[in-house]
Amino acid sequence: MSTATIDPHSIASIVRQVIAEIGQPSAAAAPVAGPVASGSLAGANGVFSSVDEAVRAATDAFEQLERLGVDGRKRAISHIRRIAIEDAEELGRMEFAETKIGRLDHKIEKLGVLGEKVPGVEFLQSQVFSGDHGLAVIEHAPFGVIGAITPVTHSLPTIACNAVNMIAGGNTVVVNPHPSGRQVAAEGVRRFNQAIYRDLGVDNLITLVAEPTLESASELFAHRGVKLICVTGGPAVARAALQSTKRAIVAGPGNPPVVVDETADLDRAARSIIQGAAYDNNLLCIGEKQVFVVASVFDAMMAAMERAGGLRLTASQVDALTKRAIVMAGEGEHRHPVPCKDLLGKDAALLAKAAGATADERLELVFGETDLDNPFVPTEQMMPFLPFVRCRTVDEAIERAHESEHGFRHTAIIHSTNVRTMTRMGRLLDTTLFVKNGPSVAGLGLGGEGYLSFSIATPTGEGVTTPLTFTRQRRCTLVDDLRILGSPDAVA
Ligand code: NAD
Repeated sequence: MSTATIDPHSIASIVRQVIAEIGQPSAAAAPVAGPVASGSLAGANGVFSSVDEAVRAATDAFEQLERLGVDGRKRAISHIRRIAIEDAEELGRMEFAETKIGRLDHKIEKLGVLGEKVPGVEFLQSQVFSGDHGLAVIEHAPFGVIGAITPVTHSLPTIACNAVNMIAGGNTVVVNPHPSGRQVAAEGVRRFNQAIYRDLGVDNLITLVAEPTLESASELFAHRGVKLICVTGGPAVARAALQSTKRAIVAGPGNPPVVVDETADLDRAARSIIQGAAYDNNLLCIGEKQVFVVASVFDAMMAAMERAGGLRLTASQVDALTKRAIVMAGEGEHRHPVPCKDLLGKDAALLAKAAGATADERLELVFGETDLDNPFVPTEQMMPFLPFVRCRTVDEAIERAHESEHGFRHTAIIHSTNVRTMTRMGRLLDTTLFVKNGPSVAGLGLGGEGYLSFSIATPTGEGVTTPLTFTRQRRCTLVDDLRILGSPDAVA
């Protein structure tokens, strides 16, 4: 006689499926927001106390999502977009209060724009080859459960944007958020899951580890249930992901240089540089971080920056700020400059004060002339101060820009009307985003063309991530049939 064991998780899954099929998940059946789920999968709204539970819940949700088809994915995504837009103000305030970096108006704006500009299921266009031997169709299939690591610089926007892309591709996701942005991450994930559950009867399409640590990140990388890793962050986590035995999509660090040559429209360049570098107090990985200007227009460019609203620091003020803002980290040969935590992502007025200058609270950017050796040049400072370096020629400016980018191949910007100069810089730096005559954010479709994502895969080469990034190609071949062209006699 055989004995059957009953898995309570599959019962929960069957019940949810039945509710989904009759299409009436009542408000009473909807899971209630709670602190952290431990031991139970349904009703957790995505927030779990361990990696293992989060992966199990996401696996269960993946199986249910498969049954809902592309239309189900589309509806799930529409809730994430709607909440990102409708709750942008409240969630943006929460993120700003918790992380204490960046600018409130931009925290709110980032949630709103992602709701509108991150692509969805329409990106999954199949390819068809038809010929004398029949048909081949290439479709885009999901990986399954994806493990995601997200940064503190855009905690909830990165999660929401990853979730839209990954669910559009048919996947579910487990997030290990940055510890300093975990509360807003959990709140956003709860809201997304609740709304999706109420509409579709599926919980936990996006799951999250409530108390993330480096250990939980490693556990996520190694978990057998995780089929793909997507990491958005700085050098340490990018290295860890690249060393993982699983396939990883790595959105790594940047240090975007700007070149301004003698043919540039200097006022336009100045306005663009302030717009990009001041955005969220220069927390964006694509934000302008150091500027190399051809000597013949250097003084005119500094004047244009002042006209555009930047505050120019004197040499001694730049020295004072450098001592306060950049500190050394690491040991021995790994010792390198890093931004000081107290000033990272803080307002330009505070930086001005640290430099010994006075400024209006509404100031967006401070800047000043430095030499090449100033640590602000090689460091991804993530604060609204920009070093401007005087270069003899545009070729020298391009060369310096190349060195300062450290081969991250992330983002570079040029202000020039000389197409050949643009081409030379584009070829040498070989960056994922290369913006000409606009602010860095134009490279993400904000004031430029194209779509948006907050995860720009750099060392692994996928670029600005889309739903396609999170899919596998599958080819389905039908031999000798279904082709309309050809003689009727050819059909047996
Ligand atoms: P961070 O590297 O400190 O943290 C990012 C995430 O990685 C966090 O969740 C953190 O807990 C985790 N982490 C750090 N070290 C780890 C390790 N050894 N193993 C596993 N997990 C680890 O970065 P941050 O300060 O949160 O974000 C800023 C950095 O992220 C900048 O370098 C910026 O350029 C980069 N970034 C890149 C993109 C992109 O799309 N390429 C987008 C946003 C931010």
